[in-house]
Amino acid sequence: MNIVIFGPPGAGKGTQSNFIVEKYKLHQLSTGELLRKEIKDKTNLGLQIESIINSGNLVSDNIVSDLIEKYISDQNYKNRLIFDGYPRNLIQVKNLDNLLNKYEQKIDLVLKLSVSLETIKKRILERKNLEQRVDDNEKIAVKRFEMYEKNIEPVIGYYKQSNLLTVVNGEKPIAEISDEISDLIEGFKGWLWEIRQYKYAGKQLLINIWLVSQG
Ligand code: AMP
Repeated sequence: MNIVIFGPPGAGKGTQSNFIVEKYKLHQLSTGELLRKEIKDKTNLGLQIESIINSGNLVSDNIVSDLIEKYISDQNYKNRLIFDGYPRNLIQVKNLDNLLNKYEQKIDLVLKLSVSLETIKKRILERKNLEQRVDDNEKIAVKRFEMYEKNIEPVIGYYKQSNLLTVVNGEKPIAEISDEISDLIEGFKGWLWEIRQYKYAGKQLLINIWLVSQG
């Protein structure tokens, strides 16, 4: 099962993605995190995108597409991805569809965490104290929220039309949101079967390794 999770910066996408990763053994693909890692590692790409990210603008669609293809093409992550912070505009929607098609996959569920600008401002300031992220001052937070809303509208429209979208109230306590998301994921029968198979295969592999090492 592949999931896309949406929400403006500070909506709790990261927190809920972590929860899904833990509970359902998916792999979280946060484009923001991948990009920040490039900056931290001072790669050529990192140097190129640092000022764009710090000013709250979006990095080019091709750069992000190249970054995520590495994961979509990896068999270890096949049908186990949760996209956090991607896609952010219609070009990225098309790029994602094409990439998933190329590797015989699709999106199964799209979650939108909806939160007001007032709540975002409050959370961004709290997070600044915890993480000291350079782009987390209030002026940039508002700019990111507005740009997010502007770009994301057609993306949300696209997934709504495709009947993949579920809107989750992101103002609720974290645990309640997690419960709601769990119910949605567990609504996918085929998916639970896949988890069981996966756990079984994992155990079977361990037994086989043990037998071989005994023999
Ligand atoms: P995030 O952690 O998702 O809030 O992303 C932090 C920053 O990384 C954004 O403000 C953008 O500059 C950049 N970024 C993250 N994801 C994307 C994306 N899908 N397309 C373009 N830029 C992105």
